[in-house]
Amino acid sequence: MAGGIEVKTPEQILVMRRAGLVVARTLAALRDAARAGLTTGDLDRMARVLLAEQGATSSFLNYGAGYGVQPFPAVTCISVNDEIVHGIPGERVLADGDLVSVDFGAIVDGWHGDSALSFVIGEPRADDRELSEVTRRSMWRGIAAARLGGRIGDISAAIEGFVRTQPRRYGIVREFTGHGIGSAMHQAPDVPNHGRRGRGPLLVQGMCLAIEPMLTLGGEATATLEDDWTVVTRDGSRACHWEHTVAITRRGLWVLTAEDGGEAELTALGARFGPLGD
Ligand code: MG
Ligand code: MG
Repeated sequence: MAGGIEVKTPEQILVMRRAGLVVARTLAALRDAARAGLTTGDLDRMARVLLAEQGATSSFLNYGAGYGVQPFPAVTCISVNDEIVHGIPGERVLADGDLVSVDFGAIVDGWHGDSALSFVIGEPRADDRELSEVTRRSMWRGIAAARLGGRIGDISAAIEGFVRTQPRRYGIVREFTGHGIGSAMHQAPDVPNHGRRGRGPLLVQGMCLAIEPMLTLGGEATATLEDDWTVVTRDGSRACHWEHTVAITRRGLWVLTAEDGGEAELTALGARFGPLGD
């Protein structure tokens, strides 16, 4: 531990990479399978099968038990259109033009991986495509800003700075943040999606973070539905969520939930790609 933050050994990060690949492959399969006419519950059932096939268990199922809320009843969070995060999969039928965010977490040998991606069913509206692309790219800016010896605020400032330099104004959701991750899904420190460089905890070797911007086409205010979980935009505007789990290694950054470890995106942004192992 360093300042209340769990620091992982290289061996532990290698196990987290296995969890990360389960997450990456499951999310890719769900994105490829999603089409109009399927329900969000169909996608969740598919994720349960893939999780079992890969010998992993869910980070999400029964999350929150004992905290006075309904324990989370699924292995994915599927959030559609004005839903930002934590949507509960069920009978909702996906339709052409829906903007869908899927968040998924897996445990391998006690270590977690957590990632989310967004896509549109059928033909996307231009502003939805752009919202998803700006959210995705802001995530990569945040990841690439994580440098040994830097601070959490560097990540936050990179995300916010990228979003604020877009020609159009987006809402940056503030009530939910990224987080440390490792032997539990949610750990210290929080990783806000807005903030200032040079602030917050020091970034050290062995730290693992889930970096997850949530943007909207409207305002930043959120509301939680009666199901205890689904977070929506208060103004009904559409929202988008992307997330990766990244490890800070002695060699650089390793995006544990990206199939290529983040090599392509990190290299393009001038950040050091630093996988462990051979
Ligand atoms: Mg997540
Ligand atoms: Mg997360």
